[in-house]
Amino acid sequence: MGVRTGKAFLASLRDERRIHIDGQRVTDVTQDPRFAGAAQSLADLYDMQHDPTLAPRMTFASPVDGAPVGLSFIEPRSAADLVRRREMVKLWMDATCGMLGRSPDFMNIFVTGLASAAHAFGDKDARFADNLRAYYAFVRDNDLCLTHTLVNPQVDRSKPVERQDKDLAAKIVKETSEGIVIRGARMVSTLAAYANELLVMPSTHLAVNKEAEPYALGFAVPVAAPGLMFVCRPSVIHQNAASPLDYPLSSRFDETDAMAVFEDVMVPWERVFIHRDPEMCNGLYDRTGAMPQIMHQFSTKNLAKAEFMMALGFSVAKATSIDAHLHVQGMLAELIQFTEFTRACLRASEADAAPGASGIVTPATMPLWTVRMMYPKMFVRMCEIIQTLGAGGLVAVPSYAEFGGPAAEVVRTYYEAANADAPYRVKLFRLAFDAAVSSFSGRQQLYERYYSGDPVRLAGALYTLYDKDPHTSRIAQLLEALESGARRGRETEAGNRGGQKKP
Ligand SMILES: Cc1cc2nc3c(=O)[nH]c(=O)nc-3n(C[C@H](O)[C@H](O)[C@H](O)COP(=O)(O)OP(=O)(O)OC[C@H]3O[C@@H](n4cnc5c(N)ncnc54)[C@H](O)[C@@H]3O)c2cc1C
Repeated sequence: MGVRTGKAFLASLRDERRIHIDGQRVTDVTQDPRFAGAAQSLADLYDMQHDPTLAPRMTFASPVDGAPVGLSFIEPRSAADLVRRREMVKLWMDATCGMLGRSPDFMNIFVTGLASAAHAFGDKDARFADNLRAYYAFVRDNDLCLTHTLVNPQVDRSKPVERQDKDLAAKIVKETSEGIVIRGARMVSTLAAYANELLVMPSTHLAVNKEAEPYALGFAVPVAAPGLMFVCRPSVIHQNAASPLDYPLSSRFDETDAMAVFEDVMVPWERVFIHRDPEMCNGLYDRTGAMPQIMHQFSTKNLAKAEFMMALGFSVAKATSIDAHLHVQGMLAELIQFTEFTRACLRASEADAAPGASGIVTPATMPLWTVRMMYPKMFVRMCEIIQTLGAGGLVAVPSYAEFGGPAAEVVRTYYEAANADAPYRVKLFRLAFDAAVSSFSGRQQLYERYYSGDPVRLAGALYTLYDKDPHTSRIAQLLEALESGARRGRETEAGNRGGQKKP
């Protein structure tokens, strides 16, 4: 089938999906004002794959029938493939200012990364490896959009999932000849309203015992599967905005977040990838090599986002000529550093990429881990810098609709800035407000903090997997060298004193 058009993507969302928000069930996410903006933005991304000037940079030939499929599905066999894939991801990320964190390329690379290591899923039962390879080909060749849930709901984080008093996490309640039956909830399903498929995979460490086994699962189901429903957070879109230029990011890129609830959902065996296997679940992404591929995608997102925030900072500073001040230049230099740091790590991961056992080329892990750990703080600081640069101007600018109202002349006169006429200045400061101050921005900051896991536990994971031995050995060798140097010094001194003895 190959890459889909935006129209085909939108049509695919008009199904039996159960999307709930604000106490209502949504009948058509492509029309509902809380969802239509992001649905159209995603449709625009799919359409880019059909633009004759972009298509060669965004697709490759499916190994099944040669039809063009999205480059984010490529299994990299060389560093050049990684670069091609990054350039494709960057096109989508630039189009969304890096603000659609879960645009389909994220899950495309996620599924591809797991499928490349499918053999690991077949250790106990070969059919799970076959299921994963078949699922990857199905998603790739039909250009499907995926959401995913890795985390159990927040009920009692002081106890492992199998010892909760309130047993609300999704688990296997039954096996039949057709498949497994799932009951319970999972979070956080970003993009649920716009996805065709939900991938449920492990993340939290599980105890290796019988009681934990029902929670040790991995599978995929259609978003519209019978028994599956999604309960979304309220939208961050300002539905009463007088102009589309007032909240230009919120209105287009609210990708939504939801809890997925399974009310006895039947998952056919061919869609099961992990079955009652805590050992398989623990450390899955690092062990299979999928994590570096995923980190390569989101580091590209981070670069696009940093470039956007930097461009915004330059523009705001230039508008009112505050870039004449040294400390303002200092903040703009910080934005440059965040951008160039992210770019350098990304490029380093490609430069030091290496083929794994199956011939799949994996980007070097540590530069990407560094981005993963440092970017949340960097993004919060980027927002703080935009706030500091824009200051009162961010709340003094009115709706862009004023240019069509009775106060138009006053606004045209008094909102001029040294280097911007009033319409440009209002548009720019509304954009800056949306990027750094609005509830959309607050959600972006929360996203950056948590989308790839809890930073506290991630720091522990990084420390555990980092190869520390060469470094501790180096210190031990240095201490030994210092000690033997000191010993030699003492011996020489003693020898000298001996030599000076009076006859
Ligand atoms: C905007 C947004 C979008 C997201 N999108 C997705 C998505 O698309 N798919 C998906 O699967 N997930 C998604 N997530 C969820 C994300 O994976 C989790 O938020 C993340 O793994 C942290 O888990 P948690 O939210 O349950 O926090 P918790 O585990 O409840 O942690 C809350 C706080 O308690 C501390 N804490 C809790 N338990 C422990 C412990 N055992 N040890 C140490 N500290 C602990 C943490 O350090 C943290 O400060 C998203 C999250 C956000 C915020």
